Amino acid sequence: MTEILHQFKGRPVVVGSGLAGLIAALTLAPEPTVIVTRGALGAETSSAWAQGGIAASLGADDNPGLHLADTLAAGDGLCDPGVAGGIIGEAQDAIALLQRYGVRFDQNPSGEFALGLEAAHSRRRIVHAGGDGSGAAIIRALIAAVAKRSSIAVLEGFEARRILTADGSVCGLLCSGPTGDIVLPSSRVLLATGGLGGLYEATTNPASNFGQGIALAARAGAVLADMEFVQFHPTALDSRRRPLALVSEAVRGEGAELVNERGERFMADTPGEELAPRDVVARAISAEIARGGRVFLDARRALGPRFGVRFPAIAALCHEAGIDPGSALIPVRPAVHYHMGGVATDEEGQSSVAGLWVAGEVASTGLHGANRLASNSLLEATVMGARAARNMSLFRSQPALGDIPSTPPIADSASIRTVVSRHLGVLRNAGAMHGAIASLLPLAEGDGASSDPAIVALLIAVFASLRTESRGAHARTDFPLKQLVARRRKMALDEALAIARAATSQDFARSA
Ligand SMILES: Cc1cc2nc3c(=O)[nH]c(=O)nc-3n(C[C@H](O)[C@H](O)[C@H](O)COP(=O)(O)OP(=O)(O)OC[C@H]3O[C@@H](n4cnc5c(N)ncnc54)[C@H](O)[C@@H]3O)c2cc1C
Repeated sequence: MTEILHQFKGRPVVVGSGLAGLIAALTLAPEPTVIVTRGALGAETSSAWAQGGIAASLGADDNPGLHLADTLAAGDGLCDPGVAGGIIGEAQDAIALLQRYGVRFDQNPSGEFALGLEAAHSRRRIVHAGGDGSGAAIIRALIAAVAKRSSIAVLEGFEARRILTADGSVCGLLCSGPTGDIVLPSSRVLLATGGLGGLYEATTNPASNFGQGIALAARAGAVLADMEFVQFHPTALDSRRRPLALVSEAVRGEGAELVNERGERFMADTPGEELAPRDVVARAISAEIARGGRVFLDARRALGPRFGVRFPAIAALCHEAGIDPGSALIPVRPAVHYHMGGVATDEEGQSSVAGLWVAGEVASTGLHGANRLASNSLLEATVMGARAARNMSLFRSQPALGDIPSTPPIADSASIRTVVSRHLGVLRNAGAMHGAIASLLPLAEGDGASSDPAIVALLIAVFASLRTESRGAHARTDFPLKQLVARRRKMALDEALAIARAATSQDFARSA
């Protein structure tokens, strides 16, 4: 029996309680708002696990133009420069907004922001809090701010299962939770559901986050963009822990070097060396591992005994794995870390479906292009969460609730992780991607527990198979070069399914 929560009728609904969702709900206040979140408030979020911090050009030697240039270079021709310039131009305001909600960023003794350096940034511009505990400090402060606003109702332990639409516009949200299935009747829903690392075996994301927001939006008819671009963080701590712990780029920013099991510094001849763009470093490490080698971060000379002071959270994770990072080599490997693609939005966070906004990692705004510049995602989540909320507050419409579908089974991505990890990893080729499409299509079209995750993975595979080049985080062994003209691709689920069906029927015709 599905209960309709009439008491919340017409309130904007925010799905997810990471940085994008919390900022959006706070910006909507004092308008009565509902947050729906799968775990406890702020739990199961990448936001709370962020180590490095937020990119903002606040140093005396820096400016938004330099930050934009670094972002466009990392994005490898696919950023939308107008969108990127707009978001980067609001970085200083974003930091000030977070401070107003109580975030205390680290300062140097003279009272200025202590700015860190990360890969592919030409200046020190990473604003951090609590050393390497930036995300946790930010989420703690925002949760405290939410608790002080009685206009925000929080439904913890509830998972969004389907977006309800009438005549193509949002009219409600179907959720499941500890008290059963519920419907929130609303014409305004914001998805802030985070990344999709949970589709893969090796990831730094909370395992429960497999990109469900993308599946929900895709089923509602929203256009998706840049789905093929999955960023692998080069240096996850290679241990038994799942998800894998991250050894932030900031450690390399402080001078730690990458070496193989022979002690060779294999990035020494690459432009940018250890701080080359993430895809370059991830591919170099993958190549070392593929030849049967091992890769380590050596922070002994750069940090030594200071490691635990500068990076207390990373030091604790290393100690948990039995490694003293100040005096021993740290074993590392690439792992899925961030998704540049997602639900296509405009500059206010609006998707192609009336009444559906999307912000944070689940969105594809055009900021990141083919590869995200480190620490631009917390910036985007803050700027776009606030922008989407402001835009939602202007929107007035109340379509009547139509038929309520039966609740689908709880989604589970475990059964597709092997296929996704094997075929849609750091290095791709046509055979692997077609194999992925053939395995995923029947699951995506079915109504089992793997249907939602299979839809997301199938979208990655279809977009990836159409990009016959290597660009940014998308590396193909059969198309190692870039095409002359860089184009973003946007498509809705129907079109992707039609392409997948055609690809598999051609395979069938060939084998018959
Ligand atoms: C280990 C790690 C370190 C990082 N470090 C940095 C960094 O230093 N700087 C930087 O800029 N970026 C960093 N990133 C990336 C950055 O943290 C994320 O991109 C960003 O936090 C995403 O924020 P978000 O609000 O979009 O999603 P998240 O913070 O991931 O929150 C998603 C929320 O949605 C909820 N949810 C998902 N599906 C549903 C559903 N169906 N129903 C209800 N709730 C749902 C989740 O439970 C969660 O509450 C890091 C990422 C990781 C994993």
